Amino acid sequence: MTSDRPVHAVRRMVARLAARGCDAPVVLRHRSDATLDAESALLAAGTDLGAPLCDGIGDAVVLSGFGDAGRTVALGYRILQGARLRTTWTEFISCPSCGRTLFDLEETTARIKARTGHLDGVKIAIMGCIVNGPGEMADADFGYVGSGPTSVNLYVGKELVERNVPTEESDDRLVELIRKHDRWKDPVN
Ligand code: SF4
Repeated sequence: MTSDRPVHAVRRMVARLAARGCDAPVVLRHRSDATLDAESALLAAGTDLGAPLCDGIGDAVVLSGFGDAGRTVALGYRILQGARLRTTWTEFISCPSCGRTLFDLEETTARIKARTGHLDGVKIAIMGCIVNGPGEMADADFGYVGSGPTSVNLYVGKELVERNVPTEESDDRLVELIRKHDRWKDPVN
């Protein structure tokens, strides 16, 4: 079945199959529009496939039109991770930032991503303040939370393990913490 409103179409189709007692496997296919730039193509695939996957619909995903096989497979992994069906890459959880944010969230997140973005399956939360940050870290493995204008608190899961670490030491201390909990691996150059 093909549709220019695929999310709606697949939901209707699955509802109809379920009403008839049919639980046949559902394969979600997405062909990229060759006129789209890379970012728009990624967004279109994420929208069309991510919505049904988050609903629990889909037994397999088929992507085409994204160029070489490696890029296509990497995109597939990202879509599965976005739908929380498979954790393959490092996952970063950041707060949206607000008046309470105690550091430049974008710059800090980019810096931490550069150090830890190769850690398969590790979830790291980077939150702007200790007022709401710890409660919003979801199920992160490690938390990096602003505790003052020049300090952060570090968490393992929901547990506060290092308090008021000076900002200039905080990235190294986070990495040390990840190592200590056997979640570190050296990046491949
Ligand atoms: S965690 Fe703190 S800084 Fe971030 S959005 Fe929530 S209240 Fe604001």
